Amino acid sequence: MSGDETPGDDEADSRRSRDVVVVGGGVAGLSAAVFTARQGLDTLVIDDGGSLLRRNAHLENFPGFPLGVDARRLLDLLAEQAATAGADRLDGRATRVAAVDEGEGAQAGGDEARDDARFVVEVDADDRNDRNDPGDLGDPIRTRYVVAATKNEVGYLDGVEGVGILDRGKSYVDTDERGRTGVDGLYAAGRLAEKPHQAAVCAGHGAEVGVTLLEEDDRGFYHDWVAPDGYFTDRGRQVPPGCEEIDDDERREREEASREAIRERFAALHPDPQETHPSLEE
Ligand SMILES: Cc1cc2nc3c(=O)[nH]c(=O)nc-3n(C[C@H](O)[C@H](O)[C@H](O)COP(=O)(O)OP(=O)(O)OC[C@H]3O[C@@H](n4cnc5c(N)ncnc54)[C@H](O)[C@@H]3O)c2cc1C
Repeated sequence: MSGDETPGDDEADSRRSRDVVVVGGGVAGLSAAVFTARQGLDTLVIDDGGSLLRRNAHLENFPGFPLGVDARRLLDLLAEQAATAGADRLDGRATRVAAVDEGEGAQAGGDEARDDARFVVEVDADDRNDRNDPGDLGDPIRTRYVVAATKNEVGYLDGVEGVGILDRGKSYVDTDERGRTGVDGLYAAGRLAEKPHQAAVCAGHGAEVGVTLLEEDDRGFYHDWVAPDGYFTDRGRQVPPGCEEIDDDERREREEASREAIRERFAALHPDPQETHPSLEE
């Protein structure tokens, strides 16, 4: 799968092979997806809707919101940002990740390995046809990269040899600072990678893991900057990987669209009820 293809082009292909599958659509997973999708990698986020942040009462330490923000709104905005960048989303639970080179791919995929996928991801999806259906019901999803961002859930990684699982009362995945697990193509992000338990830290780590993945996908040092017209080229420099220069008209257009979007998204209270710890629910 080439990163240049538009996500969604081959939705009908039940054996569709992804570039990146992100397991876990909390702040860490969605932030990673924003970065990989913006660079054109065909990215799928699988999430079963249980981000811890949904239990927050008012988020007051996330950068950029001086009086805080509704955490459910923030999650929605982040999901929208990942979708705008080109990432697809699948509502469901990843039940197993297996390495293709162990023969699991051919078995689980029911077909010969014919792409450069390194993993297959099996999913128990409640409503697989709901949004951006990536394939036939029950088909494992083949992918070159997996970003695990599931907080303390690790059971679905049992099928990958070499992943270090740390048991500290809760389970974590052993990674280096940039989320590498030691298994080529498999990364862990956010709380699952033992990052401190704040949304901003986990979101930042998700972004870092996304950039790390891109750098290791032959892109070299990756900026993802939007710069004013001529910022690089007027100094005789090439526009670096992931960068673009935009002129003043384009800048105004983007700014107006973003202001309108923010006005609209914050116009009403978020409709979802405040969640709490499951043990406190009736
Ligand atoms: C009551 C409460 C209040 C908090 N308040 C604050 C606060 O004020 N400020 C702050 O900075 N932090 C706060 N936090 C902490 C913050 O919510 C977490 O640090 C942050 O959400 C961690 O991000 P994450 O992406 O690593 O995990 P999560 O946000 O938990 O995301 C993990 C995602 O993975 C999904 N998932 C898990 N297993 C699977 C699977 N097998 N298949 C598919 N999907 C799966 C889950 O559904 C979830 O969406 C609070 C937490 C709680 C509980």
